[in-house]
Amino acid sequence: MSRTIEVDYLVVGAGAAGMAFTDALVNHSDATVALVDRRHSAGGHWLSDYPFVRLHQASAFYGVASTLLGNARVQTDGPEAGLHERASAAEICDYYARVLQAMTATGRVSFYPNCEYLGDGCFRSRLAGTTYQLARGGRVVDARYLSPDIPALTPPPFTVASGSHVIPVNDVVAIADSPDRFVVVGSGKTATDATLYLLENGVEPDRICWVRPRDPWMLNRAVVQPDPTVFIGMGADLMAAAAAADSPDDLFLRLEAAGIMLRIDPSVTPTMAKTPTLAQWELDGLRTIENVVRLGHIRGVAPGVVSCADGDVAVPERTTVIHCAASGLQYPGLVPIWQRKAITLQPVRTGFPCFGAAIIGFVEAIMDGDGEKNRVCRPSPYSNTPQDWAAMQVLGARSSAAFSAVPEIKAFADSTAINPGRVPAERAADPEVVEAMRRLQQHQPAGMARLAELAGLA
Ligand SMILES: Cc1cc2nc3c(=O)[nH]c(=O)nc-3n(C[C@H](O)[C@H](O)[C@H](O)COP(=O)(O)OP(=O)(O)OC[C@H]3O[C@@H](n4cnc5c(N)ncnc54)[C@H](O)[C@@H]3O)c2cc1C
Repeated sequence: MSRTIEVDYLVVGAGAAGMAFTDALVNHSDATVALVDRRHSAGGHWLSDYPFVRLHQASAFYGVASTLLGNARVQTDGPEAGLHERASAAEICDYYARVLQAMTATGRVSFYPNCEYLGDGCFRSRLAGTTYQLARGGRVVDARYLSPDIPALTPPPFTVASGSHVIPVNDVVAIADSPDRFVVVGSGKTATDATLYLLENGVEPDRICWVRPRDPWMLNRAVVQPDPTVFIGMGADLMAAAAAADSPDDLFLRLEAAGIMLRIDPSVTPTMAKTPTLAQWELDGLRTIENVVRLGHIRGVAPGVVSCADGDVAVPERTTVIHCAASGLQYPGLVPIWQRKAITLQPVRTGFPCFGAAIIGFVEAIMDGDGEKNRVCRPSPYSNTPQDWAAMQVLGARSSAAFSAVPEIKAFADSTAINPGRVPAERAADPEVVEAMRRLQQHQPAGMARLAELAGLA
């Protein structure tokens, strides 16, 4: 059976990006939207992530513009006392289910779960087989362009010989035989989460081997907080450090000295800069792992041996290898957000994909003409290396300047908690905020100029 759907927008992907776009669009226009996802509900990768995952930064920075995720609660006990709450995967999925319910209650948003998008405005129900075609005049919104790869849905990027035990990170919670050795494979946030989960559950550090082909730089969570004194103060320190840097590596060493960046092993210069946030207690835990294998990417696992590009590592027979080696963030290249074929959601400030998608939804709601929309709302990339971290700062800042120059967009940006850089009206005259702003303005010109040189964008 085939049906035509008459809506203004067909949003492909009900993850964080698609939800933030749709929320901003329908709250600031009378548009109608069909939201399509192959998953059974809204929430994207969070529906399939490992059960002990949390947001790596404050809940307030994530979600949709109209609805705060969590309660903006500052933790009062535990290892992150003083830092803002971070939602678990279950809380994030529950949040998106409630946001979706509110959207569909408007009568202007319809949700098509379990549906595969086939291209050209066409999608098919994976259950009923019904195909749907967007009617002429409707626009396609690609909200899956930067959808991350996750270990649960990505096979290990190495061979697994029979008799060896390799599991995706999701299955750590199902381990029942207390292996002699745990081998964590991956360099990023998922690998740090898996390692910390083992430690928190009583696994001694010397039973953990960490195959870490690259070392990561991570942002100090304490300076990425929903408080303008902290966040803008961090921006000012970042610019001061950048102004004096003479290479991307030197930049990161200066950021480390300024308390902005963290690395696990102070004797190794990291080459990876995706920069999720990390707390001090996590850093302390990760530093207890001494068996770190830096022999390049893993090639294969067989009973008693883990083979890497630059050598083999002997492991006990009763070893469980934990696959945390999916690439996560994607780098398909920036494209203009508004093109004839689709509106392609991407970050528009430095990082913070939810805020970017919300800005795009708002711009779509209030402005006419794709050329003008592309002029005021430009994409900015995710980073992978220290050099492209510098590029992300520069392109994100240029993009922020462009959309902030439009008073309505600035007012929208200032109204929502998912904008990490906003100063709420009630804090604008706070002397500490004023001082942070002054320092930012003082250091920004030289810092930005130097970052542009380091990124090759001068
Ligand atoms: C474990 C993990 C933790 C993270 N933590 C954070 C964090 O704390 N803060 C942060 O800012 N970022 C975080 N990220 C980064 C991540 O990029 C953001 O969460 C981002 O917002 C992901 O949302 P998305 O909508 O782009 O992608 P997704 O969540 O992957 O959503 C895309 C959706 O599109 C659907 N889809 C794709 N193709 C089709 C098709 N052909 N037909 C139908 N549906 C389709 C998918 O089913 C999916 O539901 C994290 C990423 C991971 C993997």
